[in-house]
Amino acid sequence: MSPKNKKNKKEDRKKTPIARGMHDSLPHDAPYWEKIETTAKDIAREHGFVRIEPPILESADLYRKALGEEIDEIEKEMCFLKTKGDHALALRPEYTTGICRAYIEHSLNRQGQPQKLFSLGPVFRHDRPHLGQCHEQTQVNFEIIGGSNDPIYDAEIISMYVDFLSELKIKDFTLKLNSIGCKTCRPTYRRQLHNFYKNYDRSLCEDCKKHFSKNQLRLLDCKNERCATIKEGAPDFLNKICTTCSTHFKSVLEYLDEANISYTLDNHLIQGFEYYSRTVFGFFSEEKESGLFATGGRYDYLVEKLGGRSTAGVGIAGDVERIIAEMKAKEIAISKRSQKRVFLAHAGEPAKKKAFSLLQMLRANGIRVVEVLAKESLTAQLKVAHKEGLDLALIIGQKEIFEKSVIIRDLKAGAQETVSLEKIIAQVKKRL
Ligand SMILES: [Zn+2]
Ligand SMILES: [Zn+2]
Repeated sequence: MSPKNKKNKKEDRKKTPIARGMHDSLPHDAPYWEKIETTAKDIAREHGFVRIEPPILESADLYRKALGEEIDEIEKEMCFLKTKGDHALALRPEYTTGICRAYIEHSLNRQGQPQKLFSLGPVFRHDRPHLGQCHEQTQVNFEIIGGSNDPIYDAEIISMYVDFLSELKIKDFTLKLNSIGCKTCRPTYRRQLHNFYKNYDRSLCEDCKKHFSKNQLRLLDCKNERCATIKEGAPDFLNKICTTCSTHFKSVLEYLDEANISYTLDNHLIQGFEYYSRTVFGFFSEEKESGLFATGGRYDYLVEKLGGRSTAGVGIAGDVERIIAEMKAKEIAISKRSQKRVFLAHAGEPAKKKAFSLLQMLRANGIRVVEVLAKESLTAQLKVAHKEGLDLALIIGQKEIFEKSVIIRDLKAGAQETVSLEKIIAQVKKRL
């Protein structure tokens, strides 16, 4: 073998790690993912939401349209791809824009209004654009699009998310709300912000210096320590919004009061894009300011920006990884369904086939079964049952094949009895 070939062999054996910014969701986390998915589906169904899943890749132009000039600021946070045919695609950075595109494209405005839509899947952003790596995050998303901009919908989205978190037993969160006004009153507020920040423009961080001339609202969103101190003195939105916006916001709060949902007002909470209007909100972790469980808001200008008719919309996007981290940190138990599973084992080769046919029968009857039938010894199989914390085992041996029966063993008490094959389903169901 030539030295060159040798080198290639070595290269072949090198591990190829996961792409930077991506993550594997591993089997030991599966119970959390399952719990979140089932809870989201149940809550969605209870509140009359149906699933919509737009594609992960959208045309890059879609976001240019949605963001207008703001795209310059956002572009570096987005992940773009180019096809061989030279089409510019974007990995979705959030769900709302794609959903609104689908709403227009499939004339969902002709269906019953509003459309209540739910989604669950990955979104991608360049967290640290200078590293040029895409970061994957999973979002659970609820949107109410169409119909009127009735404040009851804002409250409904919020109360639904409160239900979702409490169903997951997450209690330590603060709901913060603000109103960022409408096309009529926002320009005035922007001017006031501009005037206020004029005195500080030299002390601002580089990002804020850019926002200062382009999108003043984003000045309120800066996490830089020095900028945060300056922000304290900035004028409040709530004192500046027009009467219509103010009435709308008050009404949202009244609905929340009705539903006994506690909240705090945060004058500096924003959704920086032009298509957002009026109510914005966020679910924050009580411990860490950065620990956001979800953000949301009203986006009455988005559908129109994408070429549709003027359409009201309000929605929320929850951070699934953040929720899982909280569930782990707080050691929130996920109801293990282990008690509801039965273990199936065989004692020896001839019984293995019978065990396999019993396995199909149990599963066909809706019984959840754990087995390691490939293992030869009964002891080795039962070890797995103990490890899984199971209470009940079904065992088939030579004698049982002959007698057309099955042994039911109580793994905790050690007691066992033989039941005829005919009665086994009923017996297992009785004991689970
Ligand atoms: Zn207004
Ligand atoms: Zn700043």
